[in-house]
Formats: sequence, C-alpha cells, structure tokens
Amino acid sequence: MTSAVHRLKVAHRVETLTPSVTVAFTNRAKKMREQGLDVLGFAAGEPDFDTPDAIKQAAIDSLRAGNTKYMPTLGDAASRNAIARKFTEENNIPDCTAEHVGISAGGKHSLYVACHCLLDQPEPGQPQQEVLLPVPAWVSYAPIAELAGGKVIEIPATPESGFRITPDQLRRAITPNSRLLILNSPSNPCGTMYTPDDLRALGRVVAEAAATIAPNLIVLSDEIYEKIVFGGIKHFSIGSMPEIAERVVTINGLSKAFSMTGWRVGYTGSSGKFGLDFTKAMATLQGQMSTNITSFLYASVPVALTKCGAEVEKMRLAFADRAELINNRLGKIPGVRNIKATGAFYAFPDVSAHFGKTTRGGRKLGSAIDFCEALLAENLVAMVPGEDFGGCGKNHIRISFACSNDHINKGMDRLGEFVAGLR
Ligand code: PMP
Ligand code: GLU
Repeated sequence: MTSAVHRLKVAHRVETLTPSVTVAFTNRAKKMREQGLDVLGFAAGEPDFDTPDAIKQAAIDSLRAGNTKYMPTLGDAASRNAIARKFTEENNIPDCTAEHVGISAGGKHSLYVACHCLLDQPEPGQPQQEVLLPVPAWVSYAPIAELAGGKVIEIPATPESGFRITPDQLRRAITPNSRLLILNSPSNPCGTMYTPDDLRALGRVVAEAAATIAPNLIVLSDEIYEKIVFGGIKHFSIGSMPEIAERVVTINGLSKAFSMTGWRVGYTGSSGKFGLDFTKAMATLQGQMSTNITSFLYASVPVALTKCGAEVEKMRLAFADRAELINNRLGKIPGVRNIKATGAFYAFPDVSAHFGKTTRGGRKLGSAIDFCEALLAENLVAMVPGEDFGGCGKNHIRISFACSNDHINKGMDRLGEFVAGLR
C-alpha cells in the first residue's frame, strides 16, 4: 500500500531522459494516419523499399531448420566471420577478426552497449569523461552517452562548412578527460559526408592527442549510411588508419543499406589487442542484457553482406535521384535554405527565416518545433524539428526522403503552400 501523498516515480535517469524526437514524430504521423488523416510522412529515417528476397529467404530457411534456441551472445561464427571479412575487405580495417565483431539488436543497441563498455560513471570528486560530438548529430548519441556517464561536448558545424568540423576545432576540443569522439559520415541529419582527406586529417589529430594529452581517446565511427552515397565522395572508414585503428570502434548495421529497419541487426567492428578486450566486454554486458539477437536472423547476415550488391545499388540510385528532386523543390520555396545531400537520405534545410511569422491557422512560429507542429497540424506533413540534433539544428528541419518521387512532390507542394501562407 502506498500513502496518498507519496508519489511513486520511475528512476531519475530515465525520467529526465529526452525522448527520441525522430521516433516521436514518426509514431505521431502513423497514429494520425490510423485515424484516417492523409498525413505525408517525412519523419522516419527508414528506407521505403522491401528487404531483398534472398535475405528474407535465408531467415525463413533458418527458422524452418529449427534455429529457434539461444545462440552465442555476439553472433554465430558464420555471421561474425562475414562481418569481419566485410570490415577487412571493404573498409580496410586492419587486424579485424570474427573475435573483433559483435552483433546487437540494431545499430542503436550496438551504440548503447559500446558506450557502456567505454564510459565510466564519474568517481566522486572526479571529472566526467567527455564525449566529443560534432553537431548537428543524430538525436540518440547524446542521451545514450549521457546515460553511460559521459559529458557531451558539442563541436559545432555549420551549413557553411558543409556540416563538417575542422581538425583545428577537434584539436581545441580535446582535453585530458576526452574519452570518445563520435563521427557519423554520411550524416544523419545533415545528409553530408566527410571526404577521405577530411577524415584522415581528423584521424591525425586523434593520433596526436592520444600520444600526448588524451591517451584514452576512442573514436566511435557510425557508418550505418556507408552504402547510401551519391555525391561523388568516397566513403572512408577512419578505422582503416593504422596509427589509430586500435582505438576506433566502427558501428554499422543492416537497417539502412538493406532496408531492414524492423529486423534489428546492428554490429560493431574493432581492431588489435584493445579491440579484443572491447568485444569481450560487449559480450559480458550483452550477456547480462539481451543475449543474442533473434536466432534465425543470423543466417541472413552473410547473405546481405555478400549477395545483395545489385539491390543495394538500385536503392542507392533511387536515393540519388530523390536527393536531386528534393533539393530542386526546396530551392524554389522562399526562405528555405538547403544544401544538397551527398549521402544518407536526409535534407536538413534552414527554415529560420520564417521564425516570427504566423501561419494561416494563427500559430506563431518561434522555433523549428513550432514550424513542424504547425506543418503537421495544418498541412498534414510530418517532418522532424532540428533542435534535438544540437548546435545550429535549432534553425533546421529534417526531411527524410526515403520515399517515392511522387510522395516527395506532394510533400513539397504542401510545404510550399504552408510557407506561402505565412505572414
Ligand atoms: N546511427 C544513425 C546515424 C542512425 O540514423 C540510425 C537510425 N536509427 C542508427 C544509427 C541506428 O539504426 P538501427 O538501430 O536501426 O540499426
Ligand atoms: N535513425 C532513424 C531516424 O533518425 C530512425 C529513428 C531513430 O532511431 O532515431 O529517424
């Protein structure tokens, strides 16, 4: 029995956790559609294609073959081997074996487990470990890093810099307390990429700092959009730089490249002696958390990584086409400033020229949140406000163009009407 005055509460760290705005707007749009409203969704960061057949068939066959029991925590030998081979051959990551690979329930889960294996809760009187985060960045990095005990230090990027931080900015941000640097190229939400030379220059700063003031610095390189590149910039894995390979953890997954968001398959790769220690730690933590991912999905991993090149290419070309279309359409809407995406499937235009105006429905726009709330309520278009991506994100909205050209055209018509109604 609880007394009438006593308020039962959930844990403080969860009560104060920022909910994912991308998930929130996606779910709201779904709910409105279920209620019969003709909502056009641009919130979900998930490809609209079906999962390639060969991948589905492998899971079906595995299920029918009776693979329905607990499996090794971080994956069976065949899937871990296939991933290690991919990291070695495609990403040029040195000394990356199956023992350096861990499979988790989605890239988000990989990131969560990795952060908990790398960040310590601060001892009383000691400084928190710092997590360097170039912003705007995907909304889940900061909450996950903070839950694990890290203190997020934002490094601001701007549209003018192509949403890329410079080596100098990184150098200035590193302190003796720096523990993690999170990189994400191609970027969610910016749709931009670092060039191989940009990443090599950032890697050299990491190597320099590791040899001097920040010996514990680790890079978490989230390369989940690596296959979705169309701007002429080659994808480069910073973990391929021999001088820092052992201090790089690469995160990837099947969600985006193979249109498998609902399957929940993510993975990490690392290198050298520390990579083995790190992966063992992942196994220990995940063994007390979720154990293996769904047993019969493992069979799909080698199939996805080795047999689906043609499907991946087809999707890539579709995204390239959509990036072009949406950039052209956004360019014709007054007060909406966009940079054409070179990777992933997001446009991230600055709409702050409209802050201070009032909508046809009488809503005052003071922020990107107001903008997206009004756009959803009045014109039935779901886009994600940029505030939670950090830095200059507060002036931007995120538009996922993982949808058909027809859907994009309709959405841009409605966005154009919404903007035309602002006074
Ligand atoms: N990293 C980035 C940058 C993402 O946008 C996403 C999408 N949610 C993820 C990781 C995780 O994806 P998933 O958990 O579906 O593998
Ligand atoms: N990564 C996707 C997005 O940014 C999926 C939702 C999420 O996990 O954030 O929309």
